[in-house]
Amino acid sequence: MTQKALIIGGGISGLSAAYYLSKSGIRATILEKTPRAGGVIRTTVQQGCVLEAGPDSFIAAKPWAMDLIRELGLADEVIGSNDHLRVTYILKKGHLVPLPDGLMMMVPTKIMPLVGTRLLSWGTKIRMGLEFLRRPKGPRPDRSVYDFLLDHYGQESIDYLAEPLLAGVYGGDPRQMSVNSVLARFVEIESKYGSLTRGVLAAPRPKGGGSLFRTLKGGLQQLVDALTPSAEIVETTVEAIQRNGSGFRVRAGGNWMDAEHVILATPAHAAARLVRPNHAELADLLAAIPYTSSITLALGYRKDTFDHPLNGFGFLVPQRERKYMAACTWVGNKFNHRVPENMVLLRCFMGGNALALTDDALVDAARSELSSIMRLQAAPVFSSIARWPDSMAQYAVGHEQRVARIEAILESMPGLHLAGNAYHGIGIPDCIRMGKEAAARVTSATPLSVA
Ligand SMILES: Cc1cc2nc3c(=O)[nH]c(=O)nc-3n(C[C@H](O)[C@H](O)[C@H](O)COP(=O)(O)OP(=O)(O)OC[C@H]3O[C@@H](n4cnc5c(N)ncnc54)[C@H](O)[C@@H]3O)c2cc1C
Repeated sequence: MTQKALIIGGGISGLSAAYYLSKSGIRATILEKTPRAGGVIRTTVQQGCVLEAGPDSFIAAKPWAMDLIRELGLADEVIGSNDHLRVTYILKKGHLVPLPDGLMMMVPTKIMPLVGTRLLSWGTKIRMGLEFLRRPKGPRPDRSVYDFLLDHYGQESIDYLAEPLLAGVYGGDPRQMSVNSVLARFVEIESKYGSLTRGVLAAPRPKGGGSLFRTLKGGLQQLVDALTPSAEIVETTVEAIQRNGSGFRVRAGGNWMDAEHVILATPAHAAARLVRPNHAELADLLAAIPYTSSITLALGYRKDTFDHPLNGFGFLVPQRERKYMAACTWVGNKFNHRVPENMVLLRCFMGGNALALTDDALVDAARSELSSIMRLQAAPVFSSIARWPDSMAQYAVGHEQRVARIEAILESMPGLHLAGNAYHGIGIPDCIRMGKEAAARVTSATPLSVA
């Protein structure tokens, strides 16, 4: 039997595609290699603490996650970050220094906090102030985030503002990342105003206010659980895709399945392996999208033994001060409904260099870093580790052109669609949007006659 649509990969991209197909009356099958759907989204509960193994929230400014959540009837479950408690610290020379107020990413919008911060030297503060006087220089080719920001604000602002802030979102290296893909809005501002600071100050303030980040009371797993009834989900690893007339044959677990449309919602490196026999150039382009690895480590403490005041959301560790830990979130402050009264929960992000450590060594390394950074001596009563090898796509310089070429090739392969964090945005809202767009391409396609 030829199915209308097969979806390979049951992360949020694949699940969203299935949901929007189901709204058009198409029940798709998702082929997912692990026993559970959700991909990197996974919530568990330990000693009353809600543990997010992967993402813990989504940015409120992009609408697609909230739109989907409303449609699924989960709007009452949404909570916002406690932004009134938001202080983020940066580790500098062994001390936690608060990020100055009024920063838009690394762009200063208030003078006094910038003047007063211990995070930056006077030379950098003066340089950041003088940036206000820059004039537009016309359109420029894609550059690394590093080159772009070095030009505007200098080395120290990269080391102690941009790099740790971007590592918290992308886990990547500013020298590799494409400014056009990662900081597109700042590129627009630069071409219009020259100065990022002047452009940001001139732009209208976002309306509505509200929390910067949102999540669900019971964790993001609630979203996954609400989406899974939209499709039949089969646990199997897809091994090959072949053209079959105007449709496709998909081999999984030794069996072949036929479909008019295939939505490839795996990481790009997995998609590359599957399309290689059909199109070597497409496979090369997909395989060339780099990914980084990370680990999240949740440490739960009894509150009566905890010896730190936790005034804020947590801290970021700049690359030049980093051993294994890149960031630590003080979960109970960032979101309500996560940690019972008698507990404290820390969520540590460890870099890919920690993947080689055993679980015990990882916990020891984290405790040793917490002891030197936060002077924390308390012993955790539980730990929970999630390893994410090659899970976070990196948008390297030239990413836009690479994705444009991928999409041009797909034009010549009707019925094959891509969705996922490798293409047009790595966050949950963008993945939902890409799943939705893939579903729309399936439903709007002229019916294919399958040989
Ligand atoms: C640690 C971490 C923290 C993050 N934090 C945030 C955050 O706070 N907010 C935010 O918005 N974003 C965050 N992100 C990014 C965001 O969560 C991801 O980009 C997004 O969830 C990816 O969804 P996806 O469906 O594209 O891919 P994935 O979740 O990777 O799903 C792909 C699926 O494909 C399956 N698969 C692969 N190969 C095959 C095969 N051959 N056959 C069958 N199945 C296959 C995999 O098993 C997997 O389930 C984070 C990411 C990570 C890793």
